[in-house]
Amino acid sequence: MEQRAPRIVVLGAGFGGLTFCQSFHHPGAQILLIDRQNHHLFQPLLYQVATAGLSAPEIAQPIRAILHDRPEIQVRLGEITDIRTDTRQVIVDGRAEDYDYLVFGLGGRTSYFGHPEWEPFAPGLKSLEDAQRIRREVLFAFERAENTDDLDERRRLMTVVVVGGGPTGVELAGAFSELTRQVLLRDFRRINPAQARVILIEGSPRLLGQFPEDLSENARETLERMGVEIRTNTHVKNISRGRVELPDGSCIEAENILWAAGVAASPLTAKLGAPVDRAGRVLVLPDLSLPGHPEVFVVGDACFIVDKDGQVVPGVSPAAMQEAKHVARIIEDELAGHPVRPPFDYWDKGSMATIGRSAAVAKMGPLHITGFLAWMAWLVVHLLFLVGFRNKVAVLWQWFYSYLTYKRGARIILRPSLGDSAASPPACIPPAAVGTSRPVKPVPDGD
Ligand SMILES: Cc1cc2nc3c(=O)[nH]c(=O)nc-3n(C[C@H](O)[C@H](O)[C@H](O)COP(=O)(O)OP(=O)(O)OC[C@H]3O[C@@H](n4cnc5c(N)ncnc54)[C@H](O)[C@@H]3O)c2cc1C
Repeated sequence: MEQRAPRIVVLGAGFGGLTFCQSFHHPGAQILLIDRQNHHLFQPLLYQVATAGLSAPEIAQPIRAILHDRPEIQVRLGEITDIRTDTRQVIVDGRAEDYDYLVFGLGGRTSYFGHPEWEPFAPGLKSLEDAQRIRREVLFAFERAENTDDLDERRRLMTVVVVGGGPTGVELAGAFSELTRQVLLRDFRRINPAQARVILIEGSPRLLGQFPEDLSENARETLERMGVEIRTNTHVKNISRGRVELPDGSCIEAENILWAAGVAASPLTAKLGAPVDRAGRVLVLPDLSLPGHPEVFVVGDACFIVDKDGQVVPGVSPAAMQEAKHVARIIEDELAGHPVRPPFDYWDKGSMATIGRSAAVAKMGPLHITGFLAWMAWLVVHLLFLVGFRNKVAVLWQWFYSYLTYKRGARIILRPSLGDSAASPPACIPPAAVGTSRPVKPVPDGD
């Protein structure tokens, strides 16, 4: 009797899912890759789209184009809504897809720590839509500041608050500071964009908590030199339209409030029926499979696993790619009749965060690097891992152009949202009136 070809269904074309497809090879196996986007997104450069450094197509690549030379891989655009491990099926746009092996790589989402009501007022940065929306709202706020004679309104429009002092928050704050102080500076006549406020709020005592202390300190000093106001040890109490309330009773009025404080796994991890951690990540077995389901694997931001030193493997792209390659080897071996399942072993190649022009911090093994050298390392690593030759050339050109000219090429706003945001939100009650000893620092006038 003829044997049916094994069917591998891969959920998500992010770093995990795509790497699995690229590294898995078995004659006769059918692979179905499903994603709700038609593109693979290079999330590490999303903040550059949000801050007008790069345009959207430069950090994304059509999935079909990436896999054009792999005819055995079928790509399906669709929303995954359910996973039935008992019948080995995935539900995509209402249709069931059967699998023999399942690779779950649906990544994560922005988490508001139990305050989903903050989301409309403080967008997170996870998709190209998020990045384009942030860019539009920030640039549009400066246009409105230029048009108003009301100085309080102008101050509010020219204030950006970033909540969360991890790598994304630091990158956003640094890039917005440069955008206002170096790029927009020459373009406006009635306002002085250099007087914009960029405020970075972090709940813990230091920025970049996962980096060594000396690198955190370097990031803080660099950002402060760039004019970013940093508030550590500050847990946001409430966020509403245009207002961030702090625990001391004070409040910051800002047209743009950005959330870079938390991530959680895809909500679909709950459908797998396995134990998850507080962030919804699946507690996988050492070989990355689901307890009780050796045919299901979880890779990337959706999985929780510790390395051989007992450290939690971080939710970063190298981890997702290494996990995907590990799963590809296991399935290949199993299909070839060698059912050996070694445990996953994470190789931490280091971590880096960029702060601004010629400034970054990097930890590579025992080496702690800062400044220009770290920044060059950051540029090279990001260019190397960006998918697509055309994207690499375009991004390199944009970086070269803005380094030489202090200009940013992606500042066209297509659809200003004149709706709700055109009306001012209610002003903050002056801190004195709510009994705080720490008033919000006044900002110099725009003119
Ligand atoms: C702003 C930002 C900056 C970052 N910077 C860095 C960095 O500098 N360095 C670093 O190493 N890492 C960085 N990361 C983390 C890194 O991007 C992630 O660790 C990595 O993307 C995880 O890969 P993944 O495959 O698990 O998920 P993802 O890459 O997120 O891919 C998940 C895929 O699943 C798809 N999907 C999700 N839900 C559904 C559904 N219901 N139906 C269909 N498709 C769905 C999505 O469209 C997506 O394509 C950053 C992340 C963000 C958000």
